[in-house]
Amino acid sequence: VLNPPVIADLIWEQAKRRPDQVGLIFEGQEFTYAQMNARSNKAAQALLDSDIKPGDRICWLARNVATFWDTLFGAAKIGAVMTPINWRLAPLEVEQILDDADPALFVAERAFLDALDGIEGRPECTTMVLHEGGEGCFDTLIDKHEAIEPDYVPATEDALVQLYTSGTTGLPKGVILPNRCYYEVGEAGLKANILIPQSDDETMLHALPHFHVAGLNFGLMGIARGMPIIQHRQFDPGAVVKDAQGQTPLNSFLVPAMVMMILEAAKTMQSPLTNFVNISYGAAPMPERLLDAAMVAMPNAKFTQFYGMTETTGGVTVLDHKDHAHGKTQRVSAGKALPECSVKICDPDTGDELPQGNTGEVVVQSGFVMDGYWNKPAATREVIKDGWYWSGDAGYLDKNGFLYVVDRIKDMIISGGENIFPAEIEKLLAKHPDIADVAVIGAPDDKWGEVVKVVAVKRAGAEIDGPAIIAFLEGKIADFKLPKYVSFLEILPRNPSGKVLKTELRKGETAGLIR
Ligand code: ATP
Repeated sequence: VLNPPVIADLIWEQAKRRPDQVGLIFEGQEFTYAQMNARSNKAAQALLDSDIKPGDRICWLARNVATFWDTLFGAAKIGAVMTPINWRLAPLEVEQILDDADPALFVAERAFLDALDGIEGRPECTTMVLHEGGEGCFDTLIDKHEAIEPDYVPATEDALVQLYTSGTTGLPKGVILPNRCYYEVGEAGLKANILIPQSDDETMLHALPHFHVAGLNFGLMGIARGMPIIQHRQFDPGAVVKDAQGQTPLNSFLVPAMVMMILEAAKTMQSPLTNFVNISYGAAPMPERLLDAAMVAMPNAKFTQFYGMTETTGGVTVLDHKDHAHGKTQRVSAGKALPECSVKICDPDTGDELPQGNTGEVVVQSGFVMDGYWNKPAATREVIKDGWYWSGDAGYLDKNGFLYVVDRIKDMIISGGENIFPAEIEKLLAKHPDIADVAVIGAPDDKWGEVVKVVAVKRAGAEIDGPAIIAFLEGKIADFKLPKYVSFLEILPRNPSGKVLKTELRKGETAGLIR
């Protein structure tokens, strides 16, 4: 298990220690660590040849491909900053990110590049297509270069990646994560015994996108642990179930929405999920019913939950497998602070620390907190104060230090001066047998300022209506929390981490009102 101070050394070290071991399996192709290191040197030379300097951003718009790792390590070896962009974004959103990142190089898959055609005022920068071959193709440019280790000596403070927050709470911001953040989160992971392989044949099934902090972390963790990464171009639950039919013990990081789809696919395909030995999950709240179903369907897996955000390199708290046992109250918590990380709960208005048990803003101090947002010093000052990062999440700590994430502060509904956390109502409704999916938002109201609105997806064939939903909640929550409006949708809009896009739902807040 490795944890070098700079990420460039990760692939260099593995190539030295286990040159012939396979580090990456992608669509039938296998790459040894020696090959991965050589490819990263070729990529570094290609970048140098393209006049990329330390600190330059390389924007990357592609699904998960092998060249991503070549370019990430290649960029790291010359001090350049990989900036993978969410390829599910609309062209205008991608353009906003390109505008903000001001890259020296933009590499994209052909289809994504074509989708950007015709956008006025698109920033000028060297643009290359990923595959295709010929002039202007990034893969070809890499192939043309020799595998020479660059002279540059990467520093811990060199920015490694600039990841854009998913924008569920506003315009995306570029989070600058230097090598230091990856080293520190790696140390914390080792101290907490996270994902230490129990046998030589363990692999990392990698189906999360590279632009997501957890996607990057778990890919890097696979390389650091010497576990081959089985990389999927994009998430397909059926393909995950197929991979689980082999002989290899599998590790994976999944967001709750992926867990749900994998369980459904396994049922349809009548295929077991017994090969999973570790399931790490997080990035969004995990409904207890889904966790229970996953623990039954994957009986050999140890479950570990992570709570964190892009700004903290994905780490803050971890809920250990042991704490997942039935009967333990903490199984619905987000776990305890990782080693070398302090968590406290503060009043978001006064800034004062709150006594144990009180709900307030989750505030974090650790070596894996970002440097700041790219080009946004004011936004950075709003969230990093006196060395503490203000997460924007509401939560509380119990007497044993377990963190309970209540909701996002920005999603809180204020109705007649009372604070209402949507998650409380969502959790209750998630238990209703006729409801497949649900979100709670605030709708504007002349009298109360805001009132509660439920947006629900019915289970197939269910007959439930608005009054029945309200009746179900009556007596379970205070009257002021009861919904005034209920509407139904076929499907809830979600981002790639499975988080409901409440800003989208709020746009339709007056549509489909039932009461
Ligand atoms: P933006 O900041 O643009 O709104 P985002 O917050 O969705 O985007 P991420 O950094 O991917 O971007 O998500 C971090 C958030 O995800 C946390 O602040 C928290 O609200 C939620 N989250 C992460 N892990 C968990 C978890 N284990 N349980 C509950 N919520 C979680």
